Amino acid sequence: MSNENISSNFIRNIIKEDLETGKHDSIITRFPPEPNGYLHIGHAKSILLNFGLSEEFKGRTNLRFDDTNPTKEDTEYVQSIEEDVKWLGCQWNELHFASNYFDTMYEKALLLIKKGLAYVCDLTPDEIKEYRGSLTAPGKESPYRNRTVEENLELFEKMKNGEFKDGEKVLRAKIDMASPNLNMRDPIIYRIAHSTHHNTGDKWCIYPMYDFAHPLEDAIEHITHSICTLEFADHRPLYDWFVRECEMEATPRQIEFARLNMTNTVMSKRKLKQLVDEGVVDGWDDPRMPTISGLRRRGYTPEAIRNFCSAIGVAKSNSTVDSQMLDYFLREDLQPKVPTAMAVINPLKVVITNYPEGQSETLSLDIHPKDESFGKREITFSREIYVERDDFMEVPAKKYFRLFPGNEVRLRGAYFIKCNEIIKDENGEVIELNCTYDPETKSGSGFTGRKVKGTIHWVDANSSIPAEFRLYEPLILDDAPENEGKHFLEQINPHSMEVFQGFIEPNAVPGLKPLDKLQLVRNGFFSIDTKNTTDEKLVFNRIVPLKSSFKLQK
Ligand code: ATP
Ligand code: MG
Repeated sequence: MSNENISSNFIRNIIKEDLETGKHDSIITRFPPEPNGYLHIGHAKSILLNFGLSEEFKGRTNLRFDDTNPTKEDTEYVQSIEEDVKWLGCQWNELHFASNYFDTMYEKALLLIKKGLAYVCDLTPDEIKEYRGSLTAPGKESPYRNRTVEENLELFEKMKNGEFKDGEKVLRAKIDMASPNLNMRDPIIYRIAHSTHHNTGDKWCIYPMYDFAHPLEDAIEHITHSICTLEFADHRPLYDWFVRECEMEATPRQIEFARLNMTNTVMSKRKLKQLVDEGVVDGWDDPRMPTISGLRRRGYTPEAIRNFCSAIGVAKSNSTVDSQMLDYFLREDLQPKVPTAMAVINPLKVVITNYPEGQSETLSLDIHPKDESFGKREITFSREIYVERDDFMEVPAKKYFRLFPGNEVRLRGAYFIKCNEIIKDENGEVIELNCTYDPETKSGSGFTGRKVKGTIHWVDANSSIPAEFRLYEPLILDDAPENEGKHFLEQINPHSMEVFQGFIEPNAVPGLKPLDKLQLVRNGFFSIDTKNTTDEKLVFNRIVPLKSSFKLQK
């Protein structure tokens, strides 16, 4: 998996130096998701960075569930995260749960109390906030700050034994209420939560806060380089304080990098969960979701995601990536790999009036437009075919070269046909076209008599197989929804999914199974849906159209 791009970054340079100077013999990184939702493409960036570095430097990477908040976590999320990490091609060395370290964390909290560096505080959450001050105003010391060690030990024990209600007391670090860094103003270490934990059950009713738990988890696992996103930069002094004052043997180094943001999407588990809970999408793996499972179901490949993450690189300042860039890498990956077929997504029937009734013929086409080694496929042609509704206009627009009354087009791999007559239903809607074909113009026959400007795809109405096609647009309308001051749920694209009942050429179908991919001529790259496909009906998700105006900046 090593890849030049993802590795040539400032983190790589730090690691190189640490190995060269002998600070570490080998490195250990970790990916520490909280199991409170499914992973998204932003997590993929972090996963590929952490696993990529350890692979390159022959180190190790742990998968660690940061499960210190009992109210939001669930084993469903644990399973999906493991599956997604593996699917991206990453194999962890050790699997850990932060909750398995609760005993050690509790011991370390006792140590801080004994050192006079932690105290039980009775202020309400609002009061704690008020006492904390702001960037311009210094904090105010809690009246409980100078409790004796004995009193603190006793109260903390009672907290642990469930003698207080949620929110009644907290354990806080005693650092510096005048610090210019708000994180250092006596942060909370433990809070009371009488709720059942997915792993430890009802054993605990006090839970460690992230800022205290995370550095200890890293130190316990002897993580050498603890890579996190930029918003934790201000927490680094606190991270180091906990590692030092808790007298941890290992001293992991926190390094921050810029999180991935993408246009036309939301990238926060909280918001993604809202989309799921409110039924805006049909689950975490809805093909419109930026989750790993959604991208997988849509048809994205691990290779495309990896190449995308390499290309965006690892930076120290935040930016937003055009979501079309991921599509670019998808096309690059699929183009050489997947077979081609013809399918008509939004069908309009065409009767070839001069083709003998009851007759049909077999035509031979390339399975891949550029790679002969894929071989040939056979399709049939007969008196009735389907074409795309979009490939016909009763009154042609300017520069429209496809079917319209009196015009002739090429049917890909078959003949020229000319449109002679339009048949409409009682509402005036076009339901059928009568055309004639010219037997002289058969594809491959070397016919040079005349030229036509339009080539369209088609399927034989007598042999094609019905299928459902789902076309997607971005789920979120604006490029930067958060910046507009609008709630993201107000910016859902009402046309983010459109479903069509169409037809596909028959020889493409045998053996197709969920997640298999095809390039459907002129329509794009498609993948077989995992949830809605049945023995009776194939459901295709369009991964991406074939072309876009997006240009990759190199
Ligand atoms: P979210 O904002 O989606 O809720 P999170 O940071 O709360 O994400 P965690 O489960 O805590 O989710 O994250 C696990 C790891 O993934 C962390 O190390 C975090 O820094 C990283 N990560 C999360 N979002 C992104 C992102 N958009 N880009 C890069 N890394 C990310
Ligand atoms: Mg988090």
